Amino acid sequence: MTCLSCKSKLQTIYNFGKIPLVNSFNKIKKISNKKFNLNLKVCKKCKILQLTNFPKKEEIFRNYKHTSSGSADNLKHLNSFANIIKKKIRKNSKILEIGSNDGSLLNFLSKMGFDCTGVEPASNLKKFYNKKIYLINDFFSENIIQRLKFKQYDLIVGLNVFAHYSDVQNSFKLISKILKNNGSFIFEVAYAFDTIHNSKYDTIYHEHVFNHTATGLKKMLELANLNLIKIEKIKTQGGSLRIYAQKKPKTSSINIKLLEIEKKHKVNSIKTYKKISKLITNKIHEIDSIYNQHIRKDKNLLFVGAPARGVIFFNTTLFKNHKKILCIDDSKTKSNCYFPGSNFKIKLANKNMDLIKKSQQAVILSWNYKKTLIERLKKHNFKGKIYIFFPKTEIIYLS
Ligand SMILES: [Zn+2]
Repeated sequence: MTCLSCKSKLQTIYNFGKIPLVNSFNKIKKISNKKFNLNLKVCKKCKILQLTNFPKKEEIFRNYKHTSSGSADNLKHLNSFANIIKKKIRKNSKILEIGSNDGSLLNFLSKMGFDCTGVEPASNLKKFYNKKIYLINDFFSENIIQRLKFKQYDLIVGLNVFAHYSDVQNSFKLISKILKNNGSFIFEVAYAFDTIHNSKYDTIYHEHVFNHTATGLKKMLELANLNLIKIEKIKTQGGSLRIYAQKKPKTSSINIKLLEIEKKHKVNSIKTYKKISKLITNKIHEIDSIYNQHIRKDKNLLFVGAPARGVIFFNTTLFKNHKKILCIDDSKTKSNCYFPGSNFKIKLANKNMDLIKKSQQAVILSWNYKKTLIERLKKHNFKGKIYIFFPKTEIIYLS
């Protein structure tokens, strides 16, 4: 295997072994427990973090259980993103969203009067789209270009999608083709520098074929004749980037602060990546020793949320041995499905709040929404210890 972007040689950072797909929530245990190799590598030349031996994209995305509307906080994020777009571009603009999921963002944009097209392979999510949106139920590739509603778009967006498949380099080239000369390409990706470089290893999963840094993305965009205009750091996914790119050649070279910061932290040195391997090992040890020392093995343990990152946490630590796990989540698509790699099913939170009282120990898996979730536990009279392992380990006692 060679680098998916520049074709140079790869070096292993951390091999997690066999891990289930983080969104394979299914009512059939055999399906939700199917495992695939998870092996994180780095390109020796361009230093882009990537996976090898990942499963076929059809295996992951045709029946996808993660929905954008599954959490209230994420809906808020999408709503505010829609409002940013509204201020930036004129009415009636043509917008294309790649990986539009359940249409949450496009539903907002369509209501604002934009002419929206979505491209989304998961056929189970079609039903959530408002009728004005033109939806292509397929992967974004050369094959669907003829089926797009317009030849060119004013704005192309993609949220948490350009880490998700091996062919991103080609996607960027296609985007450059179907973007108007004065159009914008805005996308969001989890930021490896805030996550993996910071021992938050739970964003390493099969869907994230790439783990991006600003330095790496700049190179990938340039290979597709797109120019990086602006980067913002945002809080979603435990640390993400919002990237603005355009086709227009830059009039002056833009000094992007983040690129400087990454340079300072030696994002281009192979030594940096050897350190990451150690950070991951240490983090897993830390979690395991808390499991050994603090968790009552004979008692119920409540998992608050069933996010993708939680599946990595569970399957890489001793928590996978716990026999009495209860799990609540707000997403209807995950309700009554097996938690990937486990023997327990997820219960819809708002119909099963009584489970909160049945346990005196809880782990907040959706740690990026911890404030909201702690409030919920308080409201429903949870008494006992709450464990949060990312970004830093915390134990909170509610009496
Ligand atoms: Zn490379």
